[in-house]
Amino acid sequence: MSSGLVSARTGEENGAILGIVPDVSVVVPVRDEVESLPLLLEAIASCLNANQLTYEIICIDDGSSDGSAQWLKEQAQIRNDLKAVILRRNYGQTAAMAAGFNYALGKIIVTLDADLQNDPADIPILLAKLAEGYDLVSGWRHKRQDAALSRLLPSKIANWLIGIITGVKLHDYGCSLKAYRAEVLADMNLYGELHRFLPALAYIEGARITEIPVRHHPRRFGQSKYGLSRTFRVMMDLLTISFMKKFLTKPMHVFGLLGLISMVLGTIIGIYLTFLKLAWGQMIGNRPLLILGVLLLVTGVQLFCFGLLAELLMRTYHESQGRPIYRVREVVAKNIK
Ligand code: UDP
Ligand code: MG
Repeated sequence: MSSGLVSARTGEENGAILGIVPDVSVVVPVRDEVESLPLLLEAIASCLNANQLTYEIICIDDGSSDGSAQWLKEQAQIRNDLKAVILRRNYGQTAAMAAGFNYALGKIIVTLDADLQNDPADIPILLAKLAEGYDLVSGWRHKRQDAALSRLLPSKIANWLIGIITGVKLHDYGCSLKAYRAEVLADMNLYGELHRFLPALAYIEGARITEIPVRHHPRRFGQSKYGLSRTFRVMMDLLTISFMKKFLTKPMHVFGLLGLISMVLGTIIGIYLTFLKLAWGQMIGNRPLLILGVLLLVTGVQLFCFGLLAELLMRTYHESQGRPIYRVREVVAKNIK
């Protein structure tokens, strides 16, 4: 395809041009990984060739500034197995992966990181597990090579929380190395840091999921793009998908319910005190009960309104997801003219 601004095309249109359906599409989000890319592509290619699988590698450049995009474009003009999808700017790993899914034609889609922390040699192990009848196999970095305090601990807590809230318990949601039957990814609305929740999202759509230990290497080149702040974003995403996907049974209703209970209690106390005053002429000032009654009534009304607003907001948010979360600048592949 020639350069210039093009909008993202659907995988189907793309397939019509390419005309083949590979066994596996390997989707790799790339941001400033130019040193790793040559080694990565060779590792993927040699592993899949050795297993006699037809494949395509889709590298999505997510606003790199180190020449990754240029390198990928050049390679995509030489190699038959590479599609370079260049995004207009940095949209984040989830959006980059969503772009990759859109261009992937394979029956099976494998995702992994570009930084060589995931090992392409594990791909056949994931595929073998899929062949046992699973729809999604998630890697578990049981010997994860990242900083303990800033990465391992927060992610342990996050995995535990995600497991509790979604009911889908995995050791390592954050592991990028995953394999999916392509149909599992159809119609998935991704945003924020949501790619890591795919196993839980797929599970509620009826997918059979499992996890399997995989290798993990220390970063060889460059730096991780993430720190603690991502854990916070992940938690916010967990909160919102919990609401929208109703993992928690209508959690926003909790506010409405709390508010209602509070309001009712406050009103009962109010009526009781009014009764004391009017029927018996008792003084009702200076009573802790009065303060409690007023407090309950006020917080009750506020919580109830808050619950209502939150529910409305969630719905609006959900509906606004129609807009694309990334824009494609250019797609380069030898087979696409
Ligand atoms: N990445 C991306 N866009 C971003 C940040 C990261 O596409 O905005 C890619 C990055 O190039 C790598 C993967 O996402 O292939 C994971 O990023 P990183 O290795 O920095 O995360 P970590 O392994 O430390 O969790
Ligand atoms: Mg990494």
